[in-house]
Amino acid sequence: MGRVVVTGGAGFLGSHICHRLLDRGDEVVCLDNLITGSLSNIADLFGRRGFAFVEHDVSTYVWVPGDVDAVLHFASPASPIDFERIPIQILKVGSLGTHNALGLAKAKGARFFLASTSEVYGDPQVHPQPESYWGNVNPIGPRGVYDEAKRFAEAMTMAYHRHHGLDVRIVRIFNTYGPQMRVDDGRSVSNFIVQALRGEPITVFGDGTQTRSFCYVDDEVRGFLALLDSDVVGPTNIGNPHEYTILELAEAVIDVTGSSSEIVFRPLPVDDPMQRKPDITRAVEKLGWQPEVDLRAGIEKTAAYFAQALADQAAAAAADQA
Ligand code: UDP
Repeated sequence: MGRVVVTGGAGFLGSHICHRLLDRGDEVVCLDNLITGSLSNIADLFGRRGFAFVEHDVSTYVWVPGDVDAVLHFASPASPIDFERIPIQILKVGSLGTHNALGLAKAKGARFFLASTSEVYGDPQVHPQPESYWGNVNPIGPRGVYDEAKRFAEAMTMAYHRHHGLDVRIVRIFNTYGPQMRVDDGRSVSNFIVQALRGEPITVFGDGTQTRSFCYVDDEVRGFLALLDSDVVGPTNIGNPHEYTILELAEAVIDVTGSSSEIVFRPLPVDDPMQRKPDITRAVEKLGWQPEVDLRAGIEKTAAYFAQALADQAAAAAADQA
């Protein structure tokens, strides 16, 4: 039991973490500037014992009064559509925000946990990707704003560890999906499910032969907490190693939702990685962690969430018009 600061705590992953931490008896201070996070993700936590929310941009100076046992730095927009829309904020939260969050952890003598990403591997030339792979990133391309910010964040985190003796953990997160994703998040799983539920065409970018490995959010967050509680300092991949082509994902979504949507093909975004799959040997051996939810079961749960989210949106729009 401890007192944990979660930056980006109203976001997709951050909000799941806040819930799990409170469930296990930790106190949580959730920081979020709500640029991509949403109060609806944490609405049920207000008034819950041990929960506090502060609307704050962690790219500016961060301070939290009182004792802190751990700082979990999850603040960052993470969808490729955000890379185009708010590139400077992404660079700032990955660099300045990480520095501020590290400074808070150091001042409090707290453990620091960095949400890093499989994007540090870029368009990988080693497959699957072990933590020892240094990656293949275009620093000046549209994805570079996220990839390089996260690479800087890892470098800064390890510098604090070596130079200041800070206790740190780094998770490299692979594609994750599930409830609390934004309807307009822009990523493949959310786009495909929302398109399928609306009966709109499913937009596959490129020819759909590029691959990703999709992890259901409950598995992912269980991995985060196992890593947080472990003594594993170096970067650790947490993701589901079951690899699918994007076309296979689109077909699975249509099948599970029973949608009549057709698949249409759209241009492949610049620098879109051709393949991605985690080598999770480290997580399996050192954390005893592995994912349990298969893609179809995960799509089913996520589709139920999006169906409700779309119904809520429609009800709100109707109320606005009345
Ligand atoms: N993608 C797609 N249609 C969409 C959104 C994404 O075909 O409507 C593709 C995208 O080009 C990429 C893959 O799906 O090849 C995974 O994209 P996502 O945004 O989910 O994650 P990331 O590219 O960051 O792994």
